[in-house]
Amino acid sequence: MQAQEEKTPQYQHQRYPDQRGRFGEYGGQFIPESLSTAFAELQAAYEEARKDPAFQAELETYLRHYVGRPTPLYYVPRFSKLVAPDVKVYLKREDLAHTGAHKINNALGQALLAKRMGKQRIIAETGAGQHGVATATVCAMLGLECIIYMGSVDIERQSLNVFRMKLLGAEVRSADTGSRTLKDAINEAFRDWVANAESTFYLFGTAAGPHPYPLIVRDFQSVIGTEAREQIQDFEGRLPDMILACVGGGSNAIGIFYPFADASEVKLIGVEAGGRSMEQGEHAATLVAGTPGVLHGAMSYLLQNEDGQVFDTHSISAGLDYPGVGPEHSYMKDSGRATYGAASDATALRGLQELSRTEGIIPALESSHALGYLIEMGQRGEIAPGSLILVNLSGRGDKDMITVAKALNVSL
Ligand SMILES: *Cc1c(COP(=O)(O)O)cnc(C)c1O
Repeated sequence: MQAQEEKTPQYQHQRYPDQRGRFGEYGGQFIPESLSTAFAELQAAYEEARKDPAFQAELETYLRHYVGRPTPLYYVPRFSKLVAPDVKVYLKREDLAHTGAHKINNALGQALLAKRMGKQRIIAETGAGQHGVATATVCAMLGLECIIYMGSVDIERQSLNVFRMKLLGAEVRSADTGSRTLKDAINEAFRDWVANAESTFYLFGTAAGPHPYPLIVRDFQSVIGTEAREQIQDFEGRLPDMILACVGGGSNAIGIFYPFADASEVKLIGVEAGGRSMEQGEHAATLVAGTPGVLHGAMSYLLQNEDGQVFDTHSISAGLDYPGVGPEHSYMKDSGRATYGAASDATALRGLQELSRTEGIIPALESSHALGYLIEMGQRGEIAPGSLILVNLSGRGDKDMITVAKALNVSL
């Protein structure tokens, strides 16, 4: 018998940015003329590296022996029971990667690309300091000069990470303009790049910014989803029904989503920082509450007013405290391939406490947004019995203990 050829139209994910560097209408390259050569050079070098088996083999070797990949996919039975009866939750354990989070996957990939391009000087921006630490780590390992731009307000707030970066041999430069936080650090890093493009590689920290960074970061983080897809097939013999990940700039989420993009039966849910409330300035839920606009060289959803003025943001987790988001997520939101929700500070705290108590795993506050959101979905009866669920545990919570103690009114 002939198979029925008539099918409902399948979702087709646009896998690569188009000629203008865009996923649908999002992304692109809104950059000053002075950086066009540097971006063209980066794009060409990355295209070559991506197709070069020697580069991929070198990356794989370091991922295995330095980062500790593959990270485990781990079934959490006691946490599952708390979410809903008869569901199975697995965690992708990026918290077990070297330096305790997924950021090292991208930092390593870009540092190897820099080395291949003959660039000995690495610059990067950092907000909470996590990307700065990951960058300083791989630069130390590869013997590259490392300069980290950080807002002066963040330098004060994140003194432990500043110390880590210095210990790893990096120079930390203070950005003293504007709000003196992440946005300003990014601006300073671009300024440095304009002046030193010949010798310098700008190692960007999340799946945002001008093309080709969203693509580069997505590709280097996709190792998360590629491994997870194989692991869940091994354990369960099928794909999950649902995948959750927290979304700041969007790198850990796109890293686990992308390798499942073609499997339309797998629901993809990004969880943003709902902060103290959904009032303007009290959260960082860009895809939930924002509108399209241009920030840091790309078109994407953005927390802004009608005049394009960017709002202040708040989140209990510094890693989610960003008013923009990567363009591929904006594209996935509009196409309906992924959905996005917000978890409040309190919800994230609850997620952190519940996973700690039920499974002996203290998650990062960022990842805890996805955990808390899942618990609340269960409480609302939104999870079908028999569901197989994957949560990307983007990092470990050690770095957040002082913040958590304060939020719980515990004095240390
Ligand atoms: C930086 C960070 C995030 C947020 O960044 P994305 O680019 O959205 O992944 C999430 N989790 C942890 C542990 C982080 O350090």
